[in-house]
Amino acid sequence: MKRIGIVLFTSDLRLHDNFTLLQAIKENDEIIPLFCWDEVFMNRTQFGFSRMGEIRKAFLKKVLDDLHIQLKAIGGYLLVKKGNQLDVLNELLSNYRIFKVYTKKQVGIEEKRANEQIKKILISKGVDFEEYSTSTMYHPSDLPFSMKSIPEVFTKFRKIVEKEAVVRMPVASPTKINSPVISKDLMNATDFSFDFKFDNRSALPKLGGEPAALKHLNDYLFENQHLLHYKDTRNELHGCDFSSKLSQWLSLGCLSTKFIFHEVKRFEKEVKANESTYWLIFELLWRDFFRFSFKKHPLDYFQLHGILGNSERNAKINSEVLASWVNGETPNSFVNASMKELKATGWTSNRMRQIVASYLIYDLEQDWRVGAAYFESQLIDYDVSSNWGNWAYIAGVGNDPRSGRKFNTDKQEEQYDKDKCYQKIWNTI
Ligand SMILES: Cc1cc2nc3c(=O)[nH]c(=O)nc-3n(C[C@H](O)[C@H](O)[C@H](O)COP(=O)(O)OP(=O)(O)OC[C@H]3O[C@@H](n4cnc5c(N)ncnc54)[C@H](O)[C@@H]3O)c2cc1C
Repeated sequence: MKRIGIVLFTSDLRLHDNFTLLQAIKENDEIIPLFCWDEVFMNRTQFGFSRMGEIRKAFLKKVLDDLHIQLKAIGGYLLVKKGNQLDVLNELLSNYRIFKVYTKKQVGIEEKRANEQIKKILISKGVDFEEYSTSTMYHPSDLPFSMKSIPEVFTKFRKIVEKEAVVRMPVASPTKINSPVISKDLMNATDFSFDFKFDNRSALPKLGGEPAALKHLNDYLFENQHLLHYKDTRNELHGCDFSSKLSQWLSLGCLSTKFIFHEVKRFEKEVKANESTYWLIFELLWRDFFRFSFKKHPLDYFQLHGILGNSERNAKINSEVLASWVNGETPNSFVNASMKELKATGWTSNRMRQIVASYLIYDLEQDWRVGAAYFESQLIDYDVSSNWGNWAYIAGVGNDPRSGRKFNTDKQEEQYDKDKCYQKIWNTI
């Protein structure tokens, strides 16, 4: 009898360095690559915002379409089914004899709980279930400390990790996959689309799935060598090349951080190593840090008091004030430019994210979590730990030894937008 496995894709939408997929191919005769489009989960609201705004949905759909094409090229397909993961898995289980379900280990608390529930039900039906850590640069089991004793402060974490841990080599992409024929009644409408008009003012490169991501990485590093100047330019506000623009692909797992790490190392060998080449890895380490901290504090990052238990934070939410921030209609035109950019494109630079977050918390005196929830809905690169971790940090309830980061908007404007070029781009319409 054929052994059939299911690979339940979530935010690991790639073929390269995908250990989960490789393991499934190794252990089975046939694989059903599956993604569940769960509208209920995506639309659940927090503070009135939809979890996944239209820009995020449109990008996800594009990435799924591309993954389907890639899987097709090696003999398979991507089965995208609308519905809850457990319901979809149950439906497949009643049509196929499934040996095992393979998926990615989750970092967000709700996704972790969903995996636990799936595991319980599958095991009760005699089907194996296994999760793999595939999204960090350093594998969790290679860290020189347990999850419970991860340092609370980034610098301490970084120094120990840089000294004592090694980034594993990425695994190769599969070249062949066998997938069972899916009967017509198991298919459901996957030809839905979203109306996402790319704003020509956007700083983002052309969006697509894994092939676009790999091309962009190669262009940023080897073709154009922008990496050589990354440390000097990374705080700029506008343009495609001042920072790497990798985050939207990292958020859906179209790129592996391990792969990026080793490409940077190759660049250092073949082209040049300097402070900038190190700095990209330094920033990716921030991403790892927030992910591991989330494992340590799975619930506290969503609380007003954060991981520090600081109970003095403002819990006020004034809907008019909030709407002025969201729509870029506050008294501050510098902040407004960034909020308009975010609304139109799903992206704004790291420097502007810090400034608008600080403005909402300290100038408009609103509950920091409402800002984080809006970013969750709107950011094309939304990542649970990077988003809530950065917001908590600025609010002074996260991994920061200081008690918060208030940015002086006038000073920031003087330093980064003296000639108001950035504001002219976004405030004209
Ligand atoms: C309030 C706030 C919310 C944020 N929300 C998110 C989010 O939801 N998703 C997200 O990926 N990043 C988030 N960031 C971090 C950072 O702003 C983005 O990663 C970065 O702007 C993406 O652009 P880039 O890829 O060109 O970055 P680059 O400067 O080129 O950095 C390279 C990569 O390093 C990582 N990185 C850089 N800075 C940070 C950081 N401060 N924290 C964690 N990782 C970092 C990202 O993966 C990024 O793609 C947030 C920052 C702030 C201040």
